[in-house]
Amino acid sequence: MVKTRAAAQAATKAEVAKATKAKLADRAERASDSSRVTDALRLPQGPVDLGLVDARGTPGFDGKKPDAERERADLAGRLGDLQERLFAEGRTGGTRSLLLVLQGMDTSGKGGTVRHVIGQMDPQGCAIRSFRAPTEQERKHDFLWRIKRALPAPGLVGVFDRSHYEDVVVVRVHDLAPEATWSRRYEAINRFESQLVGSGTVVVKCFLHISRGVSRDRLLARLDDPTKRWKYRPGDVDERARWDDYMAAYGDALARCNTDVAPWHLVPADRKWYRNWAITHLLVERFEAMALTWPVADFDVEAERERVLASP
Ligand code: ATP
Repeated sequence: MVKTRAAAQAATKAEVAKATKAKLADRAERASDSSRVTDALRLPQGPVDLGLVDARGTPGFDGKKPDAERERADLAGRLGDLQERLFAEGRTGGTRSLLLVLQGMDTSGKGGTVRHVIGQMDPQGCAIRSFRAPTEQERKHDFLWRIKRALPAPGLVGVFDRSHYEDVVVVRVHDLAPEATWSRRYEAINRFESQLVGSGTVVVKCFLHISRGVSRDRLLARLDDPTKRWKYRPGDVDERARWDDYMAAYGDALARCNTDVAPWHLVPADRKWYRNWAITHLLVERFEAMALTWPVADFDVEAERERVLASP
């Protein structure tokens, strides 16, 4: 049988689409099997100069935006499945949890990460907390007091949109406490996080690294778009003026609290699609390392089946 040219072209197109799909699925599978993205994003030990880090970089990824979006969509099911396993574990006596700590300048995409990455999971299993300037009551306590109260319960994925790191960053930049106070906090944070990990919480810390230029573009976009204007605060511009101080304070916080048990990940965040891709992978990889299994029933399944069948 002689194939028409159109039929041959259609067949080739279908084959290419099939091969591409298989390649992407394979890549997603391989990436989730290892710690490839975790390793690519992990901050090396030693001093940190954020001025040298490319905010447009795509560590661990060599494709284009549509590839990243497709790959992330392919991985969403796996992420949801793993999160449900953790939730089920927590419901059946398990004590483990996962805490994602998000830090970054205004407009770096902390909210977008919650929406696009955490939004791929079951909201029942997630506890999202954001931290603003401490209230009067919070100020009466140690800086970790409010943080400890917000930790995820067993089985949950906690997300901190800003965190205890504000107490060594904004506090330092704005001189809200004497240096003697905030400089003691790095060690306190390391001790706290070490205890947290010891008690069964996997801590995933991400610094969303945005460039000054893209941050300005995003602020302008907020002003231009009436549906985004509510996100803009005039104070945002004053914070921009202190960009270098923030970078210095972040550099020290990242370097001094980059421990083996709770390392920092540096996520280039100028490209939103990369940020979402990277954090999705990071979470999948960290979940995979937890070797989560479905709980085994603590009742006689066959006997229960009989009971259900016999019930009215
Ligand atoms: P986004 O996190 O989405 O950029 P935002 O800039 O609108 O949010 P808000 O949620 O309105 O911020 O408030 C957060 C503010 O609270 C930030 O300016 C942050 O630096 C400040 N903040 C958080 N923790 C502390 C702290 N411990 N001490 C002083 N200020 C803090």
